[in-house]
Amino acid sequence: MKKRILFIAVVCSSFFACEKPSGTNSSQESIRPKNIVLMIGDGMGVTQITAGLYTNRNKLNLEQFKVIGLHKSYASNNLVTDSAAGATAFSCGIKTYNGAIAVDTDTMPVETILEMAEKNGLATGLVSTSTITHATPASFICHRKVRKMHQENAADFLKTDIDLFVGGGKDHFEKREDGRNISEELKKKGYVVSDFFQETISKVNMDPASPFAFFTANTDPVTVAEGRNYLPSISKKSVEFLKERGKEKGFFLMIEGSQIDWGGHANESSYIITEMHDFDKAVGKVLDFAKADGETLVIVTADHETGGYSINKGSTMDSLVTEFTTDYHTADLIPVFAYGPGAENFGGIYENTAIFDKMKDLYGFGEEVK
Ligand code: MG
Ligand code: ZN
Repeated sequence: MKKRILFIAVVCSSFFACEKPSGTNSSQESIRPKNIVLMIGDGMGVTQITAGLYTNRNKLNLEQFKVIGLHKSYASNNLVTDSAAGATAFSCGIKTYNGAIAVDTDTMPVETILEMAEKNGLATGLVSTSTITHATPASFICHRKVRKMHQENAADFLKTDIDLFVGGGKDHFEKREDGRNISEELKKKGYVVSDFFQETISKVNMDPASPFAFFTANTDPVTVAEGRNYLPSISKKSVEFLKERGKEKGFFLMIEGSQIDWGGHANESSYIITEMHDFDKAVGKVLDFAKADGETLVIVTADHETGGYSINKGSTMDSLVTEFTTDYHTADLIPVFAYGPGAENFGGIYENTAIFDKMKDLYGFGEEVK
């Protein structure tokens, strides 16, 4: 008798698990997102967020997230990761060595989430406030044993059918040692290639009929303090553009606030704060879209903290007394914020590589990996 009751109980619970997802433990039980937007604030640790919060009248869009976790950011060969190994953990789900761009510890290429998305018929995009060939975006679309191979990375944009990319580094596409003009090659492939010299971002026509590339600078885009302001508006346009391009199967978009990290390297609190505010505005735009859309999972995290940044005694909300312990990265646990279908999988403490695993499971890419 006892056995029989137990049997029924098991049947019932598995029945309900399928019919009515409880959404607590595994991605199998949750509702799957059609689209995923992964937002990376490079160098954005808890203190960077805190500084951004207090200096923004104690308010950030990040506060809208109800699911928050922490990831362990270390690399395979160093407790302190760099942005290449940090982004490769997200893009490929592997711990690799510092400087590796989507290659494993044996320097062998590993398929990225963006490449998997392409293969599965999804629309894809990369948006950044550094050069688009920089370590973080490159780790989603290039495979390199060492970082900073900007011209090689630029040529790799022809190897996938990425639907959209926006960032600096026009020179790496057009003023090259090999004499190739990658922008012209992209145009031949059907891309609309545009840049900030010709059009402002608010006027640019992002027609989803064609894949789209927009260069925001010849080299690195300027700072927010120097007048850069495209990230929030281009984030909004990008999700709308990709929703249309990915009407059938969905989309994957990575948006990077690249220069929070550079403020940390420079040990400049005001640089961190202005870049943090800009990134948080972009988060707000993407959240607005996701709330209206209902099929989009938004994940916001960082690759690592930069600067060993601290807010000290004597600080007020308007005036922070800050200090740095390093001009490089630190090994801090890094916050992860998630909103939308599947978000419940992102609570807790886990490896940085788990972010890839969760995205892959939620997309259902599963078996055809590598
Ligand atoms: Mg970066
Ligand atoms: Zn850095």
